[in-house]
Formats: sequence, C-alpha cells, structure tokens
Amino acid sequence: MTAIHAPRGTRDLYGDEMARFALIETEARSLLARYGYSEIRTPIFEARNLFERSVGDATDIVAKELYNFKDRKDREMALRPEGTAGVVRAYIQNNLGAAGLAKYFYLGPMFRYERPQGGRYRQFYQLGCELFGADSVAADLEIIGIAERFLANLSVDAKLKINFIGCAECKKAYAAAIAAFFLPHADSLCGDCQKRITKNPLRLLDCKVPACGTIAETVPDQSLCEKCSTRFISIERGLKELEVSFVIDRRMVRGLDYYTGIVFEMTSQNLDAQDAILGGGRYDELVGELGGPKTPAIGFAIGLDRLARLVVPPSENPAHGASRTPFVYVIGFPDDPTHAAMRFSEKLRDVFPEKRIEQGLVARSLKAHLREADKLGASYVVIIGEDEIGKGSVTIKKMQDGSQSTAPMSSDETILRESFK
Ligand code: AMP
Repeated sequence: MTAIHAPRGTRDLYGDEMARFALIETEARSLLARYGYSEIRTPIFEARNLFERSVGDATDIVAKELYNFKDRKDREMALRPEGTAGVVRAYIQNNLGAAGLAKYFYLGPMFRYERPQGGRYRQFYQLGCELFGADSVAADLEIIGIAERFLANLSVDAKLKINFIGCAECKKAYAAAIAAFFLPHADSLCGDCQKRITKNPLRLLDCKVPACGTIAETVPDQSLCEKCSTRFISIERGLKELEVSFVIDRRMVRGLDYYTGIVFEMTSQNLDAQDAILGGGRYDELVGELGGPKTPAIGFAIGLDRLARLVVPPSENPAHGASRTPFVYVIGFPDDPTHAAMRFSEKLRDVFPEKRIEQGLVARSLKAHLREADKLGASYVVIIGEDEIGKGSVTIKKMQDGSQSTAPMSSDETILRESFK
C-alpha cells in the first residue's frame, strides 16, 4: 500500500523545530502578559465573506490563495488566511470593547494556497497582537515597540520598514493617482494588474510579476493630507526618541486592504528570498466596516515558521536547556512485576520537578539499557534489579565517572537530593 503524505505545503513539527516554536511561544506569552495583552483563540474557519470584506476580495490572499469550501449545508466557508479578521469578528460579536481598551494576542495556524518554497507554506503559523480602542501615537509606538522587544528578547536581528497609507481620503486619492499612472502601461502589465487598474489600484504596488514590479518602482510617492502627514511625522519622531531604528518605504502598501495610517514590516537578512518576518499596521475602519462600532485599532502578525529559523535552538540556550537531556535514567531489570522502577521514577519527578526523568520502557539487557542512557546523555542511572528489590534499595550510577552508590528505595527527599547532587 502506498503511504499517505501530509498535503503539499504542510509539514509536521517535531524535534528541534518544535522546540524552537515552543521557545518562541513561551517568550510571547510572558512578554505580552507584561504589556497587558491576553490570549484569544478564534475558529480556524470562518464564513468566507468575513475575509472578502476585511482582507479584500481583490487581494491575492482572497482572490487566489483562499482555502474555501462549502460545508454540508452549502454554506461558504474558508480556512483563515490571517488572524486579524477573526479577532475583529470576535471583538464585535462578544462586545469585547465594552470595557474600553481591548488588548489581545493570538497564536495559531493560517492557510494560504501559495506556491510552497523555502519559508513559505500553505499551513503556516502566526503570532499576532491587536490593540482596540486607542488612536494615539503612543498606541502605534507600543505595538511597534512590542514587536521590536519580542525579536530582541529572542536575539533576532531585524530591520524595521514603515510607511503611512493614510486616512480613507488619502487612500482614495492615491488609488486614483496610481490608476492614472498605470493606465498608459496597461499593455505591459499581467492580466491581474490590468484588472487591478479599475478594481483595486493600490494592489498594483505589490504584484510579484517582475514586469509589473518595474513599473511600480517608478510610481510617484503618495501625498498625504495635513492630518496624516502630521501623524506620520509624530510617529517618526516617537521612534527616534525611543531609539528604534527604521527606514521609510513609501511604496509599501502591504497585501491586505484594511490598513489605514501607519503600516510596517520587519525583515531579516538571515533568511533567503522569503525574508519578511512580521507585518502590521493601523486599521481604524475595519471594526465599523464589519458591523461593529467605529473603533480605532492597530496590530501586527509575526510568521513563526520564519522566526523559528532565526532563534537560537533551545539546546544552545542555557535558560531553556534543562529538559534536553535526562537527569536520571531509571532501569527496572530484568522484569519488574511490582513496578518498583516506575514508582521510583515518579518519586524522582516529585523531588526534581524541573528535571527530566526517563524510565527504560523497552525490555532489554542491562548493558543495552546502559548504552541507551549514555546515548541520551543521562547524568545518573538508577538500577533496580532482583538484588535491589530483595534489599529494598536502589543502585545509583553517576555516568560522568562511573562511580556507584546505593540508597534505600524508600528514601525521603533529603536523601534523594543528597544522592543526586
Ligand atoms: P501577512 O499577513 O501577509 O502580513 O504576513 C505576516 C507574516 O506572516 C509574514 O511576514 C511572514 O513571516 C508570515 N507569512 C505569511 N505568509 C506565509 C506563508 N505562506 N508561509 C510562511 N509564513 C508566512
């Protein structure tokens, strides 16, 4: 029979890569709690029109990459391609803004039908952060600051790029300017971009087809209304005051329609072609557009698959290395009808809650058990054979120098701590 493989663009996470994910998630939970953000989990699938109305039906994410399906009652559904739309839906549905400011983070899989390549998957993982109810520059700076600190805490070097897309009027005016600029070049554009000229001109700036990209590079910069340009300057000043380094990229529009105001991305030089690790921005219209009360909001999403490639693996990070190798490997030998080895292992787990205690679970010779313990890098081996059971004791072997000692099987915590120093 042929073996079944995971679908293209998906993969199993285990071993070292899984450990890196876990490290990132632990850091995220601890850091975000310190900023007052709490976790939210929304469904992995939602009504398809949620994404059409938020991310935008003319974006690549929705038009080309959505995993959509009909459920058994013929309702149009889609696997979520990003996290913000679902969180905004939840915010409205559960009236999460009732208490004023609302700060949430989420972690989980996202789905996009993209062409898989290094660092790009069809199921990938994001950590996102959303702040509702604050339209201040301080809120913008807090969100960017969290992203910066998070990466710094993980010792990941990244470059911050910012842009200001502007209010609904500024966006509309820029869309018209872009359409007018591209129109004479229509024949040189890809089929999608020809449609974008009338349907969604801003998206002309992030087409991945090289011929379209070349034209996009010569598009004039967006001009902003006075309110928007004052805001942009205040954010720039704020970042300088906070000593956050950044570059301005006036052509960065990001691949989602809902942004207004500040947008930003972070990239790493230590990744190959897919170098974007994080993207975010302000979306002050989205809550209102999805039927909620008009609410200012800002957030970002980090791609964990790419971030995981950049973090120092837990085994090289002393703070997270404790459980990588067993502290004690317990052998019940040759067979252990009263489960003395298991009872002793459990006792060790009580006394050393932070250590890894491994029990030999496969029936094999004492020699083979010792070889296995050595291979795993155990600091101690405990042997509980017929002799030991007869005497009510255990043999403790220190792997570093091979020295052996014995201890009563019923040892209390003090004796155990003394025996495994
Ligand atoms: P976006 O929602 O497109 O702004 O993406 C935010 C971050 O998610 C990006 O910077 C990437 O790190 C990550 N990301 C987006 N799409 C993928 C994908 N197909 N595979 C892996 N990571 C992705």
